[in-house]
Amino acid sequence: MTENFDPAALMRRNIRALVPYSTARDEFSGEGITAWLDANENPFDNGVNRYPDPHQKELKSVISRIFGAPTDTIFIGGAGSDEAIDILMRIFCRPGLDNIVIIAPTYGVYEVSAAINDVEVRQVSLGDGYSLPVAALVDAADANTRLTWVCSPNNPTGNAFAVEDLSDLARRVGGMLVIDEAYVDFSDKGSMLPILDRFPNVVILRTLSKARGMASLRLGMAFCHPSVAKAMAMVKYPYNVNGPTQREVARRLMEHEDITDMIETIISERKRLERELPSKPGVRKVHPSDANFLLVEFDDPDAVYDMLLHGGALVRNRNRVRGCAGCLRITVGTPEQNELLLELLDSTGKKI
Ligand SMILES: *Cc1c(COP(=O)(O)O)cnc(C)c1O
Repeated sequence: MTENFDPAALMRRNIRALVPYSTARDEFSGEGITAWLDANENPFDNGVNRYPDPHQKELKSVISRIFGAPTDTIFIGGAGSDEAIDILMRIFCRPGLDNIVIIAPTYGVYEVSAAINDVEVRQVSLGDGYSLPVAALVDAADANTRLTWVCSPNNPTGNAFAVEDLSDLARRVGGMLVIDEAYVDFSDKGSMLPILDRFPNVVILRTLSKARGMASLRLGMAFCHPSVAKAMAMVKYPYNVNGPTQREVARRLMEHEDITDMIETIISERKRLERELPSKPGVRKVHPSDANFLLVEFDDPDAVYDMLLHGGALVRNRNRVRGCAGCLRITVGTPEQNELLLELLDSTGKKI
C-alpha cells in the first residue's frame, strides 16, 4: 500500500456517486439568525426542541484536541463504534460479491455486521499465544477482499499486537485494514493513531464505552483518511448523534481529560487478579492481558460461571467460542468487586 493510495478507489461505486441528504442546518452556521423557521421544529425552547449539529463540529474539535487527530480524519458514531463497523461494511463491501478477513477469536460484531450486509467472512486463527498471523491474513485475501479487521488489544483474548506487526500488515493487505482499539488505553504496546497519516488504508476505531466510562452515551469514533471520513459522514443517518449526547460528551471529555489515575487503578487491579487467580481452585491458565479484562481457563468453566452468577458476579462465558475452550472472560472491576470474585472462587475450592 503506497502513501498516495486513495481509499475512494476501493469504495462501492454507488457510494462514490452518492449525493448525500442535505439537512436543514447544513448550509448555515446560524450566525445572525434569530428566527429558525427552516426545520419545522417546535419553536418553544425546552432544551431539546432543536435538531442537533449533524456534523458535530464542537464535539469534533474537542475530540481532535484530546486524541491528537485533525477534524477531517474523524467520524463520530451515535450508536458506539458498532455504528462505524456497519458503515464501513456498507461503504466498501458489495453484498454477495466482496469479502472481509478477520482474526479468530475476535469481537463478534464484525461477523454479524458482515452477515447483515451479505458479505463473506474469512476467518484466520490467531497463532501460538494468540499472536497475529500476518502472513496468513494476507494469504486469506483475494481480489474481492475489501476489509481486514484486527482488534488490538483483542477481545476476548486480551492481548495487544505490536505496532510494528500492524504496520507490516497495513503495508501488505490489498484493501483497507481496520484496527479496533477499543481497549488501547489499557495497553502499553501503543496505538496506531500517532502514525495514521502514514497509512491511507488504515481505519482506527475508538470508543468512549470502555476506559472513558461513557458506555451509556453510545459514542464511538473512527479515525481515518479524510476521504473515508467524508464517505462515512455521507452514509450515516443525518442526525446520528443527539444533542444532549454531543454536549454531555464534550463536557465530560474536557472535565476529565486526564484519565491516567483511573487507568492505573484498573491496571493494578488487573495485575493483582493476574497474580492471584492462578492459585484459585479449578483455574488452569490466566492469559496475559493488555486490556481491562482477563481470559481465564478453568477445568469446568460452566460450573464456575453458574457458581459466580449465584454469588452475584456475572462474567462472560466464552467456553464455546473457537480458540477459547474452557474460558471465561472476566472484566476487571472495582477493588471490592474483584475481592468478591476471588472470594467466590475460593469458596468453590472448599465445596469440592
Ligand atoms: C466494547 C467494544 C467496542 C465498543 O463498542 P461501542 O459500540 O462503542 O460501545 C468495540 N470494539 C470492541 C472490540 C469492543 O470490545
